[in-house]
Amino acid sequence: MITFDNVSKQYDNNQIAVKALNVEIKKGEFFVIIGPSGCGKTTLLKMINRLIPLTAGTIWINDKRISDYNIHELRWSIGYVLQQIALFPHMTIEENIAVVPELKKWSKTKIHQRVDELLALVGLEPAKYRQRKPKELSGGEQQRVGVVRALAADPEIILMDEPFSALDPISRTKLQDDLLEMQRTIQKTIVFVSHDMQEALKLGDRLCIMKDGEIVQIGTPQQLLQNP
Ligand code: ADP
Ligand code: ADP
Repeated sequence: MITFDNVSKQYDNNQIAVKALNVEIKKGEFFVIIGPSGCGKTTLLKMINRLIPLTAGTIWINDKRISDYNIHELRWSIGYVLQQIALFPHMTIEENIAVVPELKKWSKTKIHQRVDELLALVGLEPAKYRQRKPKELSGGEQQRVGVVRALAADPEIILMDEPFSALDPISRTKLQDDLLEMQRTIQKTIVFVSHDMQEALKLGDRLCIMKDGEIVQIGTPQQLLQNP
């Protein structure tokens, strides 16, 4: 599904963030990238949707090089969830979720139904939340909207960069549980960045441990726990 073939990234200041990396992420897999701050996790994620260019190597999505995709086609087929809640403050929750469906010119009826379905999926009663502005929601609720916004147009791939790390422990556990439940239902390919081993072991079908821009270990939680 997503293949990294000898991918390297060197920033303009000569900082080498990712070194000749090879990995294959399978369709429907919950893949967690874990490692200390500065090891290249975010760089790896951002290369997938072409937020930053590669220095060397190739990334393939569904047997097509990412460089061969139309940029909009690529971005719209990939949901992206960030650590900071980045809802548009002037828009309602419904409008926030509808951004990509609108770009894709979905009908009003289809968008409305989709918004209801997504809010319900993360336990936010649609009638109560649809017309609210982000500031009328708690941090955990906003992050929930951030997660479903990334799912709105039914992307094949979802990239998540420490999406829950700004939350209090209770909201965090709840959202992790919701995400696992959601993944069972929607079966998307998820690439999830974390620096928290507990979280990685709980969520991941497979974990990739990075250090200094390289993969030092890769496997299922069970494999990693048996060979630490
Ligand atoms: P992580 O997500 O694991 O914390 P990053 O991918 O953000 O790591 O960063 C990997 C390395 O690349 C770090 O040493 C970081 O300082 C460096 N880096 C990240 N972004 C930039 C940038 N825009 N310009 C220069 N160096 C960067
Ligand atoms: P910027 O204003 O920094 O260019 P963007 O317009 O790319 O930011 O994105 C604004 C917000 O919209 C981000 O929080 C991002 O998560 C979300 N977003 C952008 N593109 C998509 C997408 N294809 N699917 C879901 N959410 C998206």
